[in-house]
Amino acid sequence: MQNVAILGSTGSIGRQALDVVRAHPDMFRLYGVSAHSSEAAFLDILLSERPQRAVFSRPLSTAVFGVEVSNGEQALLDLASDPKVDVVVMAISGIAALKPLLSALRAGKRVAIANKESLVCGGNLVKEVLQRGGGELLPVDSEQSALFQCLQNGRRDEVEKLILTASGGPFFRRPRAELKDITPAEAVKHPTWSMGRKISLDSATLMNKGLEIMEAARLFDFPGERIDVLIHPQSVVHSMVAYRDGTVMANLSCADMRLPIQYAMTWPERVPSPARPLKLWEHPDLAFYRPDMDRFPALKMAYACLKAGGGCPVVYNGANERAAALFFEGKLGFLEIEESVAYALDRFENRPMGDLDDILGADGEARRLVDEFYMTRSKV
Ligand code: NAD
Ligand code: MG
Repeated sequence: MQNVAILGSTGSIGRQALDVVRAHPDMFRLYGVSAHSSEAAFLDILLSERPQRAVFSRPLSTAVFGVEVSNGEQALLDLASDPKVDVVVMAISGIAALKPLLSALRAGKRVAIANKESLVCGGNLVKEVLQRGGGELLPVDSEQSALFQCLQNGRRDEVEKLILTASGGPFFRRPRAELKDITPAEAVKHPTWSMGRKISLDSATLMNKGLEIMEAARLFDFPGERIDVLIHPQSVVHSMVAYRDGTVMANLSCADMRLPIQYAMTWPERVPSPARPLKLWEHPDLAFYRPDMDRFPALKMAYACLKAGGGCPVVYNGANERAAALFFEGKLGFLEIEESVAYALDRFENRPMGDLDDILGADGEARRLVDEFYMTRSKV
């Protein structure tokens, strides 16, 4: 029996992780949960699931009988490293996941990680902890889980390329000129996946795929030149690995995040899952296209950041997080998200990221640069 802590339990991944835990009462016990907002949804989880520990960012307005509730950042780090926890599901969004991730790994936990921002920004720190023997990192992001599974079919030196698939988002077929006036409501309507609003927006701007290029490089230690992206609008093939003899291993399933969440929790075992089985005959139209790098600057910038290293990936992420927030506030237009990321990258003086303070410093700088972009542009 494994004790599970779900960090970010009220979110899209968090709620699906709860489903996985509920589906396997013989394997998993929900020990702890955390959340940052949506107090009502969080209280519902506490009342229905009765975990032992709960962490909310602020004090809760009411006590819950039988649940030990605490609040604040330190409490979150303590839950991530609680000796009673075996598996941490990292379902927090944004760079906020980095500290609890490091805390969980240092305490030797298995971390089923959905959050990509922390890996893009803190990849080196995570690698150091893993090399020192801390914990285990299992990918949840569907593309990374697919790569992880396909990589089990051969030796590393036999691998030619990692091929990430991308749905292309809701505007894949729209001319760029039409994208200027896209509203937040249109941008978060993802064609194949139902997800939190920030990652849905990232899928529409292709910033999500940019982050995933860097995430794959961090997780599997591959250079950008050996990571390709293919547009695959149906989201049935979740990613592929090309081997040197010409064989391509692909991972296929219905678009249901409970599958990669569960696999990260049960690996190396496979057990029945709540996901619907794939009926390939329902998808006679599987298609693949090479992305046009000029049409998708988010991809081009991600490859450049990966190559430049240092703080560039941190700035790519931080600028995007800030620009996404401004877009949702109605202050930036859709195409201005990538423009403001480019603005921040152009002005950032790149330097090595030695420790957490360096990373958080570069992240803050990226956010300030996006605010500056917004201020200068609103004066025009
Ligand atoms: P979401 O917005 O639905 O949920 C985020 C959760 O994190 C919530 O519980 C929220 O309270 C918590 N949170 C937010 N800010 C926090 C902070 N500063 N400190 C502590 N907790 C905080 O997000 P999501 O769609 O579930 O995505 C979570 C992560 O998983 C993201 O990094 C995303 O890129 C990744 N991911 C999501 C999907 C998906 O299908 N939703 C797929 C692949 C990867
Ligand atoms: Mg993904």
